[in-house]
Parts: sequence; structure tokens; C-alpha cells
Amino acid sequence: MNAPANDIRNVIIIGSGPAGFTAAIYAARANLKPLLFEGLTRGGQPGGQLMLTTEVENYPGFPKGMMGPELMSLFREQAARFGTDLIQQDVESVELGSRPFKVTSDGKTHLAQTVIIATGASANWLNIPTENALKGYGVSACATCDGFFFKNKEVIVVGGGDSALEEANFLTKFASKVTLVHRRDALRASKIMQERAMANPKIAFEWNAAVDEIKDPAQKKVTGVVLKDTRTGQKRELRCDGVFVAIGHTPNTELFKGKLGLDDKGYIVVKDGTHTNVPGVFACGDVMDHKYRQAITAAGSGCMAAIDAERWLESQHAAVPGKAAAPVA
Ligand code: NAP
Repeated sequence: MNAPANDIRNVIIIGSGPAGFTAAIYAARANLKPLLFEGLTRGGQPGGQLMLTTEVENYPGFPKGMMGPELMSLFREQAARFGTDLIQQDVESVELGSRPFKVTSDGKTHLAQTVIIATGASANWLNIPTENALKGYGVSACATCDGFFFKNKEVIVVGGGDSALEEANFLTKFASKVTLVHRRDALRASKIMQERAMANPKIAFEWNAAVDEIKDPAQKKVTGVVLKDTRTGQKRELRCDGVFVAIGHTPNTELFKGKLGLDDKGYIVVKDGTHTNVPGVFACGDVMDHKYRQAITAAGSGCMAAIDAERWLESQHAAVPGKAAAPVA
């Protein structure tokens, strides 16, 4: 086995959502002694998008549900238990042009044989002040996560693309009425999604309308929205109990532009599981998946990335066993 210098890591993982922590659990248990950068960009805390949700009811193994932040703290604990080194810092830059790869954070450069990227994606928000105050209290960017809480309630969905129509359709399973609020008078979504939404008696449409304000932060719940006509500027109120923002996601790939193959929306392109176009660099979770975007699928791909990295290291005879993994109870 070609033993690299001690200060070259087998694996550096960037990102601390379900994908990153699962990759860490698998890499650590494979005795690769991974280093994981948790990142602090999102509201100054690690943990990915689940830190922004309240109760997670669809993660298998937790029949009574689990609060998103609590679930992430369990992921983290499990990654640490097997010897993952954790650094709570944003990565500032990466150099992937030659090996060992270089990952720089807080002015310090770390070297690695493989890099697993799990930086996720961020939901686009309307960026109006009341939206932020009510996130988790009736304002959501994930109908799959939060739709269940709106049984027999009235909600709005903002957006006119496939995501918005998919969310609107999904929400009709719970809500008594779903109003789709779109800033134009024509939808961007595919024809089939449009037809399905228009045929759904529970879905109403508000055309040429932008959400100007969400009420009522003082009550810590959503009681309605102020809609502004995008042509005339006229404002009026619409009562509702929830606001789902579905105006697209942006993958967190700023660090990798020009260094890795990205698709036209900025997602990392992977093939054969989680391999990027740079040998030894892997991607998992929402940073490479705009289709499923679930905690469980992200975790699954994190596992795949760790296995892909392990096998790649073996093929290069480059792995250096770390500390022995803690015994499994
Ligand atoms: P998208 O296609 O980019 O649509 C975003 C929508 O949000 C557009 O209607 C846009 O309005 C609106 N919007 C953007 N910024 C806004 C703002 N600040 N205020 C109000 N409205 C705003 O994004 P997406 O719907 O998330 O879809 C992303 C990709 O995933 C697409 O390629 C889509 O086809 C795909 N997708 C497919 C499926 C499926 O096939 N089942 C499901 C989900 C997503 P304008 O139209 O005026 O620009």
C-alpha cells in the first residue's frame, strides 16, 4: 500500500446535512478517519435544510416523528462516535486540479486523497421580512415535509413552475383549499402538470400576484397574506393558514464553478453512483439531486459516496487506515 504522508486525509467531507453525515458514518466505520467541514453559512449553524423544518415525520425509523434539528444532532453524534473529525467552519476554497486535493478553511489548507461534496441546495425565498419571522410557523419551502400539518386548512403556494404545481397538488391531500399565487398570467410548468392542477377542484389561481407581506408575525402564525397586483400595484388581503414558497432551489456549488462538471442549473453532474468528472471527487445529496430532495435520499447517496470513495482509494492503493473504529454495540 502506498502510504501518503500523515497529514493527507483519506477523505474530506464538505457539508453537514443527511448526505454529509451519512458519508462520514460510513467512511469512519471503514476506518478512513474522515474530516468533515460542517459549514456555518446557513443561519450560522450546521445541519443543512432540516435545521429549518419543524417535525420530520417521514424519516424511517422514527414512527413518532422527530424534530429536524434533533434528527441532525443524532446524525452528528453518530458520525462523531466512529471517529469523524468535525470542524465547524465554512470551506473557503478548494483545489481539485491535482492530488492531493486542497481544501482551505479559516486560512488553513487541508490535504485529501478524496473529497465528498455534500453542500446541499438552498430553497429560494421571497425575501420579504415577515417570511423569515414565520419560517417553521406556517411558512415552508417543503410541502412533503410540512403539508401534513395543514389538514383542512387553507394554504397558498407561491410559484408557477413544476415544483409549485407539484406542491399544490400534494397539498390538496390535506388542505381544504390551495391557492396558487403566480407573478404572471402564464405558468412555467409542464403542460401535464398544468392540466392536472387546473382539473383539481381544490386548487384556485391568483394570477399576476406577488406576496407583499405575510401576516401575522406578532401571533407567531400565518393568518393571511397581502397580495400585490404585479400590473397595477394594487394590494389586497387573502386569508390563509400556510404559505409554501416553491420558486426553485439553488445548489450550493459556488465553490466548485470551473472545477467540476455542473449542469445548466449549477448542480454537480455525477455518474456511476456519485463520481464527479474529477476522479477521487464524489458528490451526494441535494447538491447533485434536484429531483427527489428528501433527507432519506440524501442519506442514501451519502452512503453511496463513502463506499465509492473507499473503493476508489482501494483501486489507487491510497487508503491509510485511521484509528480503529469504535466497536459496534
Ligand atoms: P422553476 O422552473 O425555475 O420555476 C420557478 C417558478 O417560480 C417560476 O414560475 C418563477 O416565475 C417563479 N419565481 C421565481 N422567483 C420568484 C420570485 N422571487 N417571486 C415569485 N415567483 C418567483 O423551478 P422549479 O419549479 O423548482 O423547477 C426546477 C426544475 O425542476 C425544472 O426544470 C422543473 O421542470 C424540474 N421539476 C420537475 C418536476 C417533475 O417533473 N415532476 C417537479 C419539480 C421540478 P416565472 O415563471 O415568472 O419565472
